[in-house]
Amino acid sequence: DQGIHLRSVCKTYRGRGADVEALRDMNLDCAPGSFTALIGPSGCGKSTAMRIALGLEDYDTGEVRIAGHPPAAATASGVTGVAFQDAALLPWRTVARNIALPLEVLGRDPAKHGHEIAKLIDLVGLKGYETALPGQLSGGMRQRVSIARSLITEPEVLFMDEPFGALDQIRRRQMNVELQRIWMESGSTALLVTHGIDEAAFLADYVVVMHANPGRVVEIIEVPFERP
Ligand code: ADP
Ligand code: ADP
Repeated sequence: DQGIHLRSVCKTYRGRGADVEALRDMNLDCAPGSFTALIGPSGCGKSTAMRIALGLEDYDTGEVRIAGHPPAAATASGVTGVAFQDAALLPWRTVARNIALPLEVLGRDPAKHGHEIAKLIDLVGLKGYETALPGQLSGGMRQRVSIARSLITEPEVLFMDEPFGALDQIRRRQMNVELQRIWMESGSTALLVTHGIDEAAFLADYVVVMHANPGRVVEIIEVPFERP
């Protein structure tokens, strides 16, 4: 299906020092169209699980399916969108051209997607900043560019790793409200890694709690709430 599925995933980092068992029998099922928040103490393997789901990191055993695809294929074909904490924008590209980047990576012509780019800029509240460079924007504005960029391929699956990490509490709350609206419009399956339990409870249908040493899922909480 169009969901996110990790089955009995094990991952040990083997380096020059001691091995680190990052994930042991990690199971995660995010139903199509659902919003799941992944929480847990620092070092419990949240980012590792997300990098594996994005195809950026190998795993030792287990099975991973992203909207029916192997993770790297889902990322390479634009089925997956991703927004990271540090925004990772290209400093020499304007806001509009940063948002267009995933289209270029997929070999599509950004000139044919002007309407979608403009719509996303509007959606994240950056109208008027189309030609600004990242260095001219605040941290919050850069994170909003990153969210817009993650949505430009109309991904079926959206991964977010602390996307509002650089924001203060008030601005973060505002962004959560905006993200909820954006996500409901997109209809995508979302997985959010966050340290904020309030953020998790506000946004997610399910909160998945992980423990460390080794990283594993210990609890799945269904959040009882009604969509606006
Ligand atoms: P979280 O995102 O929950 O903070 P991580 O997935 O970053 O957790 O890390 C899980 C464990 O794996 C930690 O013990 C961390 O130190 C270790 N780890 C993460 N990345 C690497 C790496 N590239 N090499 C070795 N160990 C790593
Ligand atoms: P922060 O991340 O620092 O909290 P925000 O993203 O919340 O900042 O920005 C708040 C508003 O202030 C923006 O919507 C924008 O109108 C204005 N602003 C902030 N920084 C800049 C900047 N460097 N250039 C232009 N406008 C800015």
